[in-house]
Amino acid sequence: MPELPEVESLAEFLRGHAVGRKIGAVEVFGFQALKTVDPPVTALTGRTVTAVARHGKFIDLDCDGLHLVTHLARAGWLRWQDDLSRAKAVRPGKGPLALRVRLAPYEPGEPEPGFELTEAGTQKRLAVYVVRDPGEVPGIAALGPDPLSDGFTAEVLGGILNGSRAQIKGLLRDQKVIAGIGNAYSDEVLHAARTSPFKVAGSLTEEQVTALHEAIVTTLRTALDRARGLAAKDLKAEKKSGLRVHGRTGEPCAECGDTIREVSFADSSLQYCPTCQTGGKPLADRRMSRLLK
Ligand SMILES: [Zn+2]
Repeated sequence: MPELPEVESLAEFLRGHAVGRKIGAVEVFGFQALKTVDPPVTALTGRTVTAVARHGKFIDLDCDGLHLVTHLARAGWLRWQDDLSRAKAVRPGKGPLALRVRLAPYEPGEPEPGFELTEAGTQKRLAVYVVRDPGEVPGIAALGPDPLSDGFTAEVLGGILNGSRAQIKGLLRDQKVIAGIGNAYSDEVLHAARTSPFKVAGSLTEEQVTALHEAIVTTLRTALDRARGLAAKDLKAEKKSGLRVHGRTGEPCAECGDTIREVSFADSSLQYCPTCQTGGKPLADRRMSRLLK
């Protein structure tokens, strides 16, 4: 799933390639992805893309006052195309193509670039909204602070954690608490902060909060720097190669050489290094031990 660094770099790419261009047409093939009816998608035709913003993991194309907003969810992706002039319509509901945005050529006969939103697999979670204000998208209205904004200080993080009885892993990927961090980067942040994923958020000392804040900002900025400027198609591989614990069960930890372990958490699993994060003790798999009782 694309998280803040990948979504921000997609937004940067669109800033460089789509801003200033007129929308030729928006074609919807995956109707379940479209979450709004008013204004209609056709209202975007002929409007100029004036800005591209990121809100958490949402991408927001400002089309001169109307916003085309998308959330790529778990298996969605944005594919840039240099020329869509010969791209054909596909049968709705068939295949991964959910939406196509054609950008008008500057001059007749010039290439017609644009992008396509695709979603692999059978679970269709990709979401597209056409709204007058991005705040009309419920997921955006509920977002917590952006960890790369100037206002996200160690004090702000301390305020968020203070009194929370949630496990830090779950809290970090809760979009209402902090915007943009998902399953992969929460594993990376906790490894960098040398903190157990099961630690109760409110129990962190001031020193640990400062270390966690530093880990959040550094991890996301480093990932963003690596992703920046890459073509959209290369982002997924780049994300994977930059991860130090996430998805690396059984591999040696780059920090200490211990074996990276995995434990189930909520609807998925998390990875961590026992030596770096849990005093050398492997975490009990709660789901497994519950089943064995
Ligand atoms: Zn380690």
